[in-house]
Amino acid sequence: MRIDGLMMDRPLMVISLMEFAAAYHGDCPIITRSVEGPVHRTNYAQTYRRIQKLAHALVALGVKPGDRVATVAWNTWRHMELYYAIAGIGAICHTVNPRLSPEQMAYVINHAEDRFIFLDSTFAGFVPGIKNMVKGVEGFVVMTDAANMPSAVSDENFLVYEDLIAPYPDSFDWPEFNENTAASLCYTSGTTGNPKGVLYSHRALVLHSYCLVAEFKFGPEVVSLPVVPMFHVNAWGIPYAAPMAGAPIVFPGRALDGESLFDLMEEEGVTCSQGVPTVWMGLIAHMRKVGRKPKKLESVVIGGAAPPESMVVAFEEEFGIEVNQGWGMTETAPLGVFNTLRPKHKALPKKQQIDQKLKAGHVVYGVELRITAEDGRVLPNDGKSCGHLQVRGPWVVSSYFKGEEDLLTADGWFDTGDIGNLDADGYLQITDRAKDVIKSGGEWISSVDLENEAMSFPAIAHAAVIGIPHAKWQERPLLVCVPADQNNPPTLEEVNAFLEPRVPKFWLPEAMEIVDSLPLGATGKVQKSVLRERFKTYTLGE
Ligand code: AMP
Repeated sequence: MRIDGLMMDRPLMVISLMEFAAAYHGDCPIITRSVEGPVHRTNYAQTYRRIQKLAHALVALGVKPGDRVATVAWNTWRHMELYYAIAGIGAICHTVNPRLSPEQMAYVINHAEDRFIFLDSTFAGFVPGIKNMVKGVEGFVVMTDAANMPSAVSDENFLVYEDLIAPYPDSFDWPEFNENTAASLCYTSGTTGNPKGVLYSHRALVLHSYCLVAEFKFGPEVVSLPVVPMFHVNAWGIPYAAPMAGAPIVFPGRALDGESLFDLMEEEGVTCSQGVPTVWMGLIAHMRKVGRKPKKLESVVIGGAAPPESMVVAFEEEFGIEVNQGWGMTETAPLGVFNTLRPKHKALPKKQQIDQKLKAGHVVYGVELRITAEDGRVLPNDGKSCGHLQVRGPWVVSSYFKGEEDLLTADGWFDTGDIGNLDADGYLQITDRAKDVIKSGGEWISSVDLENEAMSFPAIAHAAVIGIPHAKWQERPLLVCVPADQNNPPTLEEVNAFLEPRVPKFWLPEAMEIVDSLPLGATGKVQKSVLRERFKTYTLGE
């Protein structure tokens, strides 16, 4: 039966976010501590005009709908322009993590079949090292102007961003296409094997922005500084959500230490900031040094890893800065839960409020969560029953880019690899991790890959890697190994000298324990749980 009187079916397009901000919040500032150093100021109106110039430039380069264009870049206004221009013409912005090893970087660039790479001048030095490994890349564009082109690459025939966009008009006739088209791509390290690409559709990014605006309470008076990198889940979606709310944005560029963040927050009147626990340790140390918080800073969002209690107490009680924890993943765009207190929590004594804040947060509208037992049974939301955290929703991955295997459960849920419980109010508590990875300073280390590399060192017969709590990086790898010759075990320095050219620097084991043998399960796999138990009092970085 035909039903009359329905709503219009207008596609949700990423470019519409910026178009809206330019039209109605044109003078709203976008401020960056530039990679070159000086503070750069622009606004949504100017940015939208430059995005349209860039769109012409991309088309002139031959970029077609569906093509992938990579960025290797810090959080800056030019990076934001790329987000929108690439998605606006129907292509896909692939944000590459610059902390990957050259081999890993080449892998993701080749897997994505990136046609062009836009990179900050800081990363220009890496190109000679990977150029031969990424033969499909047709050009490199340095995100700067001619005056600031690094001399190291002057003979490399690179394009200069400002020269590239200069000749083009500042209006572009945006194509309209299916909202389920991909707009951006971010790889996440799989527990085994190669990194996996997550494609974000226009629809998912716009819907996620509505959610973020509501939860983060973005608006024209909320000045946010995303420390979380634009190469890590689109800086948690902030570059899309801020324009939707007409909210000012302050980009930190490459200076992420406590003092630089403090100064930028102070100078630009930042009211809220978002990042992983490691960056907050630097800010807290600097606030203690100067004896105060940045004047207008009211709140911080902590996500990507659980914050220690001492961090929440320091922000809230020492400096009067509200903490909101969040949980999410590359596969969930990322917002899944967000921690704000309800009136009944606010009525509790401060210590109990802090306990509540140490939960990951409450379910947000749009994302469904459930906890399942080993046998797949759905467990009750009783705040006690722990099991596998599974999610579904319009901004949750359904399959990896070019992924062939079935990613979802038979009834359509994504298993996060996290272990936790949910209470009756929908607050999630993460208690463990089923996936065999280590998260150091917000970035993944694959323990399986690290073990395999370590076992190719002749002095090591068998090795396992587990995560150990670390005061600064949350977790660091501990290498537990059986030496080839028990009478002559290798030193950590020898092992790391061997590993250094093979893995990213931040993967290098922080400590090593020599054992006679590793505990093996029935199938011959190392029982990591036994190792974790054995080394559970181990802490690093105190
Ligand atoms: P990523 O895909 O790199 O953003 O990492 C997502 C993973 O980080 C999750 O599956 C969790 O293991 C971890 N994670 C994120 N947020 C939290 C949190 N608030 N508490 C504990 N672990 C978290």
